[in-house]
Amino acid sequence: MVKYKIVNDRPKCIGCGACAAVAPSFWEMVDDGKSSIKDCAKIGDKEEKEIGEKDLAVNKEAAESCPTEVIIITNLETNEKVI
Ligand code: SF4
Repeated sequence: MVKYKIVNDRPKCIGCGACAAVAPSFWEMVDDGKSSIKDCAKIGDKEEKEIGEKDLAVNKEAAESCPTEVIIITNLETNEKVI
C-alpha cells in the first residue's frame, strides 16, 4: 500500500483555520494560533506524519484549502510531490 507523508511547514502558517475545518481528524489549531497535525512527529519547526491512501483525499483537500501552501504531501514510494 502506498504511503504518503504530510508536512506542516508551521512558520508559514497564518492561522486561518481552513485545514482544521476541512480535515478535523488530522488538523487542529493550537495555542500559538497556528495549525498542528494531530499525533505527528516534530522535526525542527516542521511537523510530519505518514498516512495511507485512504487518508490522502481529505489531507489533499486541506492542502488545497491552505492560502499559504504550508501543507506539502509527498508520495513516499515515488518521492513525488502530490501537492
Ligand atoms: S490552512 Fe494553512 S495557513 Fe491556514 S491554518 Fe491551516 S496550515 Fe495554517
